Amino acid sequence: MKPAAFRYHAPKTVDEAVVLLAEVAAEDGRVLAGGQSLVPTMAFRLAKPSHLVDINGVAALNRLTVADGNLVIGACVRHAAFRSPVCAGPLGKLLADVVRHIAHYPIRNRGTFCGSLAHADPAAEWCLVLAALDGEVLAKSARGERVIKARDFFKGIMTTALADDELLVEARLPLLPDDARAGFYEFSRRVGDFALAMALGVYRVAGGKMVEPRLAVGGAEVKPRRIAEAERALDGVAPGDAAFRAAAAAATAAIDPMEDIVNTAEFRRDLVLAVTRRALERAAKS
Ligand SMILES: Cc1cc2nc3c(=O)[nH]c(=O)nc-3n(C[C@H](O)[C@H](O)[C@H](O)COP(=O)(O)OP(=O)(O)OC[C@H]3O[C@@H](n4cnc5c(N)ncnc54)[C@H](O)[C@@H]3O)c2cc1C
Repeated sequence: MKPAAFRYHAPKTVDEAVVLLAEVAAEDGRVLAGGQSLVPTMAFRLAKPSHLVDINGVAALNRLTVADGNLVIGACVRHAAFRSPVCAGPLGKLLADVVRHIAHYPIRNRGTFCGSLAHADPAAEWCLVLAALDGEVLAKSARGERVIKARDFFKGIMTTALADDELLVEARLPLLPDDARAGFYEFSRRVGDFALAMALGVYRVAGGKMVEPRLAVGGAEVKPRRIAEAERALDGVAPGDAAFRAAAAAATAAIDPMEDIVNTAEFRRDLVLAVTRRALERAAKS
């Protein structure tokens, strides 16, 4: 099918983009980033935006920098940019590992990190990364700008705290300390498919014990999130099979899994048990 008719806008600056968004948001005007989620839904007429504000010509949104201890990812930075480490230390390595699981090569070349956040598919890998690391986003509109923390950003399935007239300008991920251990694991039925469950674990080891543990789960619930019960099972404990199994069991008990006609809640719990333990095992080997 062909999309419904729309008007196309091509701003050159962030200010132009937010002025345009203010004008068209009430008529379901949308930002067009990589188009890898929006365009298929338009083709199926599941979305019929009357205006598209294409941000690909806004050079300022293509920046990928390190500032104030954060990796700062502009709204037009593609998934493919993360194929090789984009920053020193464990964060660059982690992102290079995670990106291999996102869709397929052509989609990674067009789709954007921030577009994934704005789209907020519960199974999007970058959403899990933002939640696990307590990242934040900068949102701008003609009314001003605000920083939204990951825990306040994701509201549910494909629902975020962004208002219709807000542009997600950049995402910020805190750099990980050099001695951080980070591991990611996901299960999907075929390579390139969205994950049915995935987990990201990060911790440091001090005096033989895990400290500052982070354990987040995505793809299983309506939004990715850190699981405090699992983190408590890791905190102050020696890394190893017993601790990883205890954390995985705690995560499995704590989640409220999504269900669909193919995947039951029980199946997703089983997957979380497996992906959580494997993410922690990968962290131990990182
Ligand atoms: C076959 C296939 C498989 C896929 N598999 C995966 C996968 O395994 N994992 C995964 O994470 N993703 C997957 N995707 C989705 C892909 O990663 C998309 O690139 C991503 O979801 C959206 O990014 P985009 O830049 O293409 O956004 P677009 O499609 O341009 O936009 C998506 C939505 O976000 C809004 N938006 C985008 N950018 C902004 C912004 N800066 N500010 C405000 N709103 C904005 C748009 O208005 C739209 O509503 C897959 C897609 C396809 C087609």
